[in-house]
Amino acid sequence: MRPSLLDPLFASASALPGVGPKTGKLLDRLLGEADRPARTLDLLLHIPFSCIDRRNRPKVAEAPIGAVSTLKVQVVEHRPPRAKGPWRVLTEDETGDLTLIFFRANAGWIEKALPLGETRWVSGLVELYDAFRQMVHPDRILDEAGLAALPPVEPVYGLTEGLFPRVMAKAAAGALARLPQMPEWQDDRFLRAAGWLSFGESLARLHRPQAPQDLAPEGKFAARLAFDELLSHQLALRLVRAKMQVARGRPKNAEGRIAAKILGALPFALTGDQQKAAAEISADLSGEKRMLRLLQGDVGSGKTVVALLAMAHAVEAGQQAALMAPTEILARQHFATIAPLARAAGLRLALMTGRDKASERRATLDGLASGTLDLVVGTHALVQEDVAFHRLGLAVIDEQHRFGVHQRLALGEKGEAVDVLAMTATPIPRTLALAYFGDMDLSSLREKPPGRQKIDTRAVNVERIDEVVAGLSRAMNSGARVYWVCPLVEGSEDSDLAAAQDRAEDLRKFFGAEVGLVHGQMKGRDKDAAMVDFASGATKILVATTVIEVGVNVPEATIMVIEHAERFGLAQLHQLRGRVGRGTGKSSCILLYAGPLGETAKARLEILRATEDGFRIAEEDLRLRGEGEVLGAKQSGAPGFKIARLDLHADLLRAARDEAEKMLGVDPELTSERGRHLRLLLYLFDRDQALKLLRAG
Ligand code: ADP
Ligand code: MG
Repeated sequence: MRPSLLDPLFASASALPGVGPKTGKLLDRLLGEADRPARTLDLLLHIPFSCIDRRNRPKVAEAPIGAVSTLKVQVVEHRPPRAKGPWRVLTEDETGDLTLIFFRANAGWIEKALPLGETRWVSGLVELYDAFRQMVHPDRILDEAGLAALPPVEPVYGLTEGLFPRVMAKAAAGALARLPQMPEWQDDRFLRAAGWLSFGESLARLHRPQAPQDLAPEGKFAARLAFDELLSHQLALRLVRAKMQVARGRPKNAEGRIAAKILGALPFALTGDQQKAAAEISADLSGEKRMLRLLQGDVGSGKTVVALLAMAHAVEAGQQAALMAPTEILARQHFATIAPLARAAGLRLALMTGRDKASERRATLDGLASGTLDLVVGTHALVQEDVAFHRLGLAVIDEQHRFGVHQRLALGEKGEAVDVLAMTATPIPRTLALAYFGDMDLSSLREKPPGRQKIDTRAVNVERIDEVVAGLSRAMNSGARVYWVCPLVEGSEDSDLAAAQDRAEDLRKFFGAEVGLVHGQMKGRDKDAAMVDFASGATKILVATTVIEVGVNVPEATIMVIEHAERFGLAQLHQLRGRVGRGTGKSSCILLYAGPLGETAKARLEILRATEDGFRIAEEDLRLRGEGEVLGAKQSGAPGFKIARLDLHADLLRAARDEAEKMLGVDPELTSERGRHLRLLLYLFDRDQALKLLRAG
């Protein structure tokens, strides 16, 4: 259904000229998704995060120290390394000397590139060493012809290990050449007033900046694209919302009989925020309007109980409820939490995942279809075609941003006018939450359940890893259990996995069989087994990739070690840390970093140390990033934006919201000329699933 005009952009990046299989794989790693390789479009939207200005061409003596200059020098002498040491090339101009330094130099290459007595242009970082000017590995060594061809301002792309800047630049240029001529989808007058260029022109300028300020995120080129992205987001949200509201809700009447039983079985009292959220949800469920509510609450704030109370309401009103979680581990855990409470309240429930035995699955399907089951907890196995409900009245979706629009809606479509409760632990600053989530109603759990201990958080240089291990050994002797998280390494083949495996091996040297391992590429059953071993104490250290990020609950775990903490987004670190401090034991979190850290990186880790308020962390993170730290969208914790940044583009977000409202007000099906052009935009930013709703009618 996608307009064929866009086909070149959806072709795989590996098919671009000059991108071989090796580069293709690296691009997939950098820009692809789990289920699809990198596309030409992904390359285009991977805009440079900074640039190198090569227009600065001073005399040697005037070259600023610590900055990139492009210098015209004469080659005076080659000094090959004596023992170890680098290869040195002495050069000069009429004002001074510059030593070029090459480690592990290839003699043939270097003598050819810098022939004795000749003049060459060298471009790179000028530094001072023992009062001598030097340039270590010039970025460019050029003759006059080469200089003439040098782009004056060179874009700098986010890379992955093994992918070199020039290869990336070439791939990006290839992608740009594939960009088709597209009709304008923004309002002409609006564009003129803002002084913005077309989508294609803006992209081209970002990939071929003429001055550093061309790349400023607030600048007109990035802003144009950010607005496009935000508008696509808002249109998609509104299309979903419109679809939801076509069908009116079925009011669910409940006095709270079942909820009371659940509350009676709980070993604790609800917090004020939990009570408030539960009341808001009950009011929605009893009302005429169909519910579309987001329950936002930090890790550990107690969303699950609130969800269970909502489900109890639906069941009391004679309907069924389903809870869908993004991973197998989470689904099982929710089931384990909910089952005893639900049974105490007389509810009949089942678990459904992709790994059920055929006979189990059959029984669950029958129970759901006949209505002998009240509740089901599961993974996206719940939205498979053969799953039918007798009377599904409420769909609860945990960690909603981990599902695509389509999956989110699919569960709701298993019944008539199903109410939807989405849950997220991603704290979006209050100021932006409504705009960000469109018109979803919002309940927030800001208050933590009582009795939570403060988690002692420390940042430790990885050079001191031996001390950390010694400390763990002491703590484990007195019964502690430890998570050890290895990051997604941007590196060679499957290296995130390899890093975790290597670390587990290392730790086994100290702790033997007490070390477990869990990672995303393990089979479901093996994952579960690793979690069960850790939960039961059969293993005491669980080395993990970020699969444990959401939701896992092992109250006995009191120590969280995060390797390469500087590579994680703050929100993610916060979520990881939330895995400890769940029981009565004193808990700690050790953020191992590879130094030296820049100012912003230091400040970010400091925030984590200082507070456990996820909302505050999110706000501070935005503020800091606003001061220039560039983070990839994948790290930012704000799901789904490639270009737009909530910290800098809040105004654009509001404008996009108004524009989407206006547009869908006059053209709800996007069938007018401009509407059809806007459809292109939804494809470009991967929000075209929303268009399927229009067809579904
Ligand atoms: P999240 O919001 O991260 O999903 P959970 O629902 O998993 O949080 O709750 C985290 C832990 O806090 C669970 O062990 C749960 O039983 C407990 N809990 C929830 N509400 C309260 C409360 N009001 N008082 C004490 N403990 C609570
Ligand atoms: Mg949860």
